Amino acid sequence: MVVIVDTISNPLRPRHPEKVNRPDSASPPKPDWIRVRAPNTRGYADTRNIVRANGLHTVCEEAGCPNIGECWDKKHATFMIMGDTCTRACAFCNVKTGMPNALDAAEPHNVAEAVAKLGLAHVVITSVDRDDLADGGAEHFAQTIRAIRAACPSTTIEILTPDFLRKEGALEIVVTARPDVFNHNLETVPSRYLTVRPGARYFHSIRLLQRVKELDPTTFTKSGIMVGLGEERHEVQQVMDDLRSADVDFLTIGQYLQPTRKHHAVMRYVPPDEFSSYEKVAYTKGFLMVSASPLTRSSHHAGEDFARLKAARAAVAR
Ligand code: SF4
Repeated sequence: MVVIVDTISNPLRPRHPEKVNRPDSASPPKPDWIRVRAPNTRGYADTRNIVRANGLHTVCEEAGCPNIGECWDKKHATFMIMGDTCTRACAFCNVKTGMPNALDAAEPHNVAEAVAKLGLAHVVITSVDRDDLADGGAEHFAQTIRAIRAACPSTTIEILTPDFLRKEGALEIVVTARPDVFNHNLETVPSRYLTVRPGARYFHSIRLLQRVKELDPTTFTKSGIMVGLGEERHEVQQVMDDLRSADVDFLTIGQYLQPTRKHHAVMRYVPPDEFSSYEKVAYTKGFLMVSASPLTRSSHHAGEDFARLKAARAAVAR
């Protein structure tokens, strides 16, 4: 399903028009283990200035990520390309929905310039869903990868892509640009898809990840889910098995947090020891890397994790 909302006729439109008439849903109060530092450091301000000066969007801000104070202080920002407006309307996501603007041809260059200014050893690039584009934005992803390679040859590149559902040939365009890490998040267990991620298809997303490895076995693949959306433990374990069947290397599991009362409610705050247990189970299933904690996000500590990922693959090859 594709959700298209008219953004032209009403400049005062709400951020999520498709959710306006939904009843409010209340989440339980946040437990102590979810508290984070306020974003007010010098490093945070420097990162924000570079993002603004290059006219870029970040998922850190658009998704209201709880780790922004920590990440931006270290100049780790995840760039969100192809605009700030998404053509899907997932129940968990705070990114603005509607009909996006045309692509900005200068964006790949601007992202590369920002990566150079921030001096990033590892960068994560994500995007909104662009179901309105014939290739889902695949060529724009590829151009951005190439621009970063040209401007910052030693920077390793991780991409977090949409699912390119019904976009024949799109995945091949992106993989041919040779990102170091290809991430596509499953977001939740299959039984929650129709409620949480209605525009996506679980087995399509699994197949997408599997296909990346078929196209380029050297690329690291990564995926993540949120917990606290009403899933059962055995379903999380099934997701692990499905991802291993697709030869995915790296799994992230984090706590879902409700952006507004119109979004899906938090059904449960999963305690830290349950995350540790998920991590242990996932390692036994053969992932090279697992990150599972309440504040795990797919791009959190991505640079350090990439180094560990490479070391883990090298150890297995020995
Ligand atoms: S975890 Fe990712 S999205 Fe959140 S602030 Fe850090 S880099 Fe940005």
